[in-house]
Amino acid sequence: MQNTIKHTLEDLKEYSDKIVITTHHKPDGDAMGSSLALYNYFKAAGIKSKVITPTDYADFLWWMPGHEDVLVYEGNEEDAEKIMKEAKLLYCLDFNALGRINDMGRFLETCDLRIILIDHHRDPQDFDDERLCSINASSTCELIHQYFTAHLDPQFINQEAAQCIYTGLITDTGSFRYDSTSSTTIRVAADLLDRGAVPSVIYDKIFDQNRLERLKLMGFFLQNKIELIEEGKVALATLTTDELQKFNVKTGDTEGFVNFGLSIAGVKMSALIIDRSVLVKMSFRSKGEFPCNTFAAENFNGGGHFNAAGGASNLSLEDTVEKFKTALKDYSKYLE
Ligand code: 5GP
Ligand code: MN
Repeated sequence: MQNTIKHTLEDLKEYSDKIVITTHHKPDGDAMGSSLALYNYFKAAGIKSKVITPTDYADFLWWMPGHEDVLVYEGNEEDAEKIMKEAKLLYCLDFNALGRINDMGRFLETCDLRIILIDHHRDPQDFDDERLCSINASSTCELIHQYFTAHLDPQFINQEAAQCIYTGLITDTGSFRYDSTSSTTIRVAADLLDRGAVPSVIYDKIFDQNRLERLKLMGFFLQNKIELIEEGKVALATLTTDELQKFNVKTGDTEGFVNFGLSIAGVKMSALIIDRSVLVKMSFRSKGEFPCNTFAAENFNGGGHFNAAGGASNLSLEDTVEKFKTALKDYSKYLE
């Protein structure tokens, strides 16, 4: 645990209306959960803040309290840059290097901001003034809850903030089933229920509001796209740009697809490789000893967690698949 938080809630009141909260590119449930939890918490405490995301995010997160007040940098650069220039305090949530947020990160480097980093990824870069970081936390949302209770004042965790934190807990732990789920995660969840988060309602909003097109894509994917290699220990799946177009794929539609491969008996590592035309994007998941983050960092300029990581490639889809298969050879000892 790296914890250098020194400020109190009183100190933050002086920054009201000068606080920007941001998170990673294509934010997921934990990224939006932690950002909007902080936004709603501040609102309850009488502190004004602005959530600015580098890009848009999946529509299954649009129900979250505060979503309507989020500003998306991509496409609104001028408005966002004005707010960032005038801000004094920046929260970076669920990522640990400004380089991960592309153009927005480059702009932020030109601003005069005090930076607070709250995150659960490995090896944070040194760009912050205060931090609450732990790779043992299931999610950034778990750390946000700790931030509110141990450093600020838990009384402002209202129902809105509780719903947001609960969202990050369930999306980053696979609904409390991954190894990252600890007794602390469950205690935090219990506290959120006491504060008005209703599990069945949140689960429904996140997982059971699919578009029929997404289910059809899923059916096609399961039927045609998953192959087993390395004697059934690795599941590999790809999606081409044509396929993405054919099924009218939107941000978030392929979320979770990499887990299908990992659910096959005997599979220790699953990869999903998607040709997003500008870039080939890759997701890796593993059970047990296969270090997805090192594999992603060494071969695909990526990173993440031990059992869940990602990366990208500038090669064609076919060449990326070949590179992936070759790279696996050096990692065969983790597949035994
Ligand atoms: P996903 O496969 O869901 O996109 O990402 C899984 C995990 O890997 C997340 O924790 C995410 O932060 C990390 N990750 C995904 N893509 C990249 C990447 O290109 N670079 C780095 N450093 N981490 C990534
Ligand atoms: Mn996370």
